[in-house]
Amino acid sequence: MDITGIKRRGLMYVLSSPSGAGKTTITRALLKDNPDLTISISATTRPRRAGEVDGQDYYFVDLQYFNTMVDNGEMLEHAKVFGHYYGTPRAPVEAALKKGQDVIFDIDWQGTQQLREMARDDLVTVFILPPSARELEQRLRGRAEDTLETDAQIRDRMSKASDEVTHYSEYDYVLINTDIEKAIEQAQLILNGERLKRPRLVGLSDFVRTLKDGL
Ligand code: 5GP
Repeated sequence: MDITGIKRRGLMYVLSSPSGAGKTTITRALLKDNPDLTISISATTRPRRAGEVDGQDYYFVDLQYFNTMVDNGEMLEHAKVFGHYYGTPRAPVEAALKKGQDVIFDIDWQGTQQLREMARDDLVTVFILPPSARELEQRLRGRAEDTLETDAQIRDRMSKASDEVTHYSEYDYVLINTDIEKAIEQAQLILNGERLKRPRLVGLSDFVRTLKDGL
């Protein structure tokens, strides 16, 4: 809060994309540049990949634990993606929003639909597309050298991307990631603009009333 007395409601910033489109790079850059932004760490039943850290990339849990969280209402949303379960733990998100922080989510279209039903005005959704199928394949192949993915796994990701991209029209914004620096800049611009939207400014009408009284 500043001298205007205006506070901002935290927003929920969702980034979805087929894997390899640059979502993780964009997310990391935004987190680095925005101290008011925090990431929602999902829980998943998928096995940990080489290089992933529990509690940082995901909370890696077994199916029984996952289902208990769902049954207890501890997930804000959850979905089965490519044969494994993924969900957003509710408590950290609610705590961050309450503090006026914005929260970034890396979730798929199914989770985005569920958040849309409950969050409405607080939700901003962005879909990231690769510039071409060829470019996506090259990026996936480049990354596979680190994650030791096989040819078959890459082909599988390509065919899944073909389903996922059909959901672009359910999102508020679409970024085509031709140049990663530009895509980061655009994701930041969206965030800046959304933060200024009138309904997100709590105390605005009081501020204007005081302003008017003094005029
Ligand atoms: P990966 O296993 O490659 O890390 O993620 C696979 C997919 O699951 C990605 O599209 C990612 O956005 C999605 N995902 C990750 N966490 C969640 C979550 O908590 N909820 C939903 N609905 N999708 C998620």
